[in-house]
Amino acid sequence: MSTPENVPVYPPAHTVADFTANLAAVRAKIEAAASRVGRDPSSVRLLPVSKTVPEERLRLAVAAGCHQLGENKVQEAKRKWQNLTDLEISWAVIGHLQTNKAKDVAAFANEFQALDSLRVAEALDRRLDRLGRSLDVYVQVNTSQEPQKYGLPPEEVRAFLHQLNQFETLRVQGLMTLALFTSDGERVRECFTLLRNLRDQIRGEDPALLGPGELSMGMSGDYEIAVEEGATCVRVGQAIFGSRALPDSYYWPGETNA
Ligand SMILES: *Cc1c(COP(=O)(O)O)cnc(C)c1O
Repeated sequence: MSTPENVPVYPPAHTVADFTANLAAVRAKIEAAASRVGRDPSSVRLLPVSKTVPEERLRLAVAAGCHQLGENKVQEAKRKWQNLTDLEISWAVIGHLQTNKAKDVAAFANEFQALDSLRVAEALDRRLDRLGRSLDVYVQVNTSQEPQKYGLPPEEVRAFLHQLNQFETLRVQGLMTLALFTSDGERVRECFTLLRNLRDQIRGEDPALLGPGELSMGMSGDYEIAVEEGATCVRVGQAIFGSRALPDSYYWPGETNA
């Protein structure tokens, strides 16, 4: 795979010791970023993202202390959940969801971070209610103004949160975003600032709408900027598990770094 010069290559983790080392390195960078802006590093949750990584290597990651895992695609997440029921793992679905997959998410996920439609909220609620379960959700916001990206435009978020109030099974935790995919750190930072300002504004006007007001933002290439801008959850895959072979365009519409 050819890699543009500005995209770092992440070494793969093949042993528990590799995972321990990669996790420690990421945590150290989170701590440094938090202390640069006077934040308490324990207010940042590290969510390891395990998409494309096979079950056998996930066992090593769990042994190294990963008990929450994020997955972008429901089918893959469901397979891993079924094959790893002997381990203690809390599953987070972090990618776009189609209504017909809501029943799967309702069955096994503890968290869904890409909520951006009322139809999906209704489908999740119906299934969760039947199962007697509830689900932590984050509303995904399109902070980069790219029309092909998932997520609600910022100006629609508040009305959407009002509509979510009717679903007792969905526990709104906060907002989630994917920044612009660019090596220009300042443009990335603007996306994170926008999400934080949106959270602050909604909380100021209507504190009950956003639950604890979490901000899920930042991945391997930009989580340090995200922590500086207030992230309370960073979703980090490659910096923990190693570089992925598949281009990001496979996961996100419109990305062109194949
Ligand atoms: C894959 C993915 C991540 C993590 O990306 P890395 O480059 O592996 O750190 C974060 N968020 C979402 C929604 C993803 O699909």
